[in-house]
Amino acid sequence: MKTVISLKDLEAMVRNKQDLGKIPDDAILTPSARDFLLERELESRGTRQITAASDGIEKISAPAKKLNSKSSKSELEEFFNSPYAHSLKEQICEMGHRLWKRAYVDGNGGNMAIRVGEDIAICTPTLVSKGSLKPSDMCLVDFEGKQLCGTKPRTSEILMHLQIMKHQPKALATCHCHPPYATAFAVANIAPPTCMLPEYEVFCSVGVAPYRTPGSADMGKLVAELTDQYNTILMANHGVVTWSHNNIEEAYWRMEIIEAYCRTIVVAGQLGKPINTFTGPQMKELLNIKQSLGFVDPRFGMKECELCDSGDWRPGVTSDLPPRDESAGKDPEAEAAVQAITDQILAQMKS
Ligand SMILES: [Zn+2]
Repeated sequence: MKTVISLKDLEAMVRNKQDLGKIPDDAILTPSARDFLLERELESRGTRQITAASDGIEKISAPAKKLNSKSSKSELEEFFNSPYAHSLKEQICEMGHRLWKRAYVDGNGGNMAIRVGEDIAICTPTLVSKGSLKPSDMCLVDFEGKQLCGTKPRTSEILMHLQIMKHQPKALATCHCHPPYATAFAVANIAPPTCMLPEYEVFCSVGVAPYRTPGSADMGKLVAELTDQYNTILMANHGVVTWSHNNIEEAYWRMEIIEAYCRTIVVAGQLGKPINTFTGPQMKELLNIKQSLGFVDPRFGMKECELCDSGDWRPGVTSDLPPRDESAGKDPEAEAAVQAITDQILAQMKS
């Protein structure tokens, strides 16, 4: 009979200074035990290279052979359990933990995916909080959403991520969550006004997709069509989805940037002063930087004078609900009777 080895067994072996190399080749490893061994193998091989820009996230180069959904089951499993796939799973976990710490996700909400071949992607599972995400929770799916590897079922919102990847060949990573301020704009169906903060203008270009049931093919289609011009999409009455042609961390950064921006302009609108915006030439300069970074934006071809006059809404604009009519719904005769009785009582009290 084959031995089953769990994370606890391995930890006990380390405590007792036993050689992990002596584990029988045919032993069955639990997913967390496999992660543990991979971690140690990476450490001993010195393959953990931490790049300064990515805040503790390791970059391991991709295997030369690109797989697809038609690759054999054993090739897919080997890839899914490789150090490279493990490093991508760790990146997703790290981003999940950041989403949770910043309260951009609630319950089991939020999901992410990374394209890892022609028509395959690693993604988050369903029904797992992003605050406790582990590499062994991840799934491998084909572009129709069929699960190829992983023990937990994939996220129910995967179709939207896959439709973005199918429609937008540059989309390498996608991130979806419900950050409260940006989601408030999505609920009000308002694209945040532009020309106020440089970071937002350079890293995000924001479109609004109409409401459809989360996870439905229709939702995915509407969002995917917007990715030619936008990298950050507000989904009406739902949340936000971002994509990046570089990595999952950049897709995550877009979440931080749009959420901070929406919060800032809501606060700025309460300060009682008119809001300053960029001039056309200032805006043009930011768009030039954006274009050089390879990001999309529908404003690249516009004239300077057309750049900053957009927006259905500006901070400081008050609600246009009509003022409440205090006398509405009152009966003048009854009012007069109540007044007469009140006056009588007051007069009696005074006498
Ligand atoms: Zn959602």
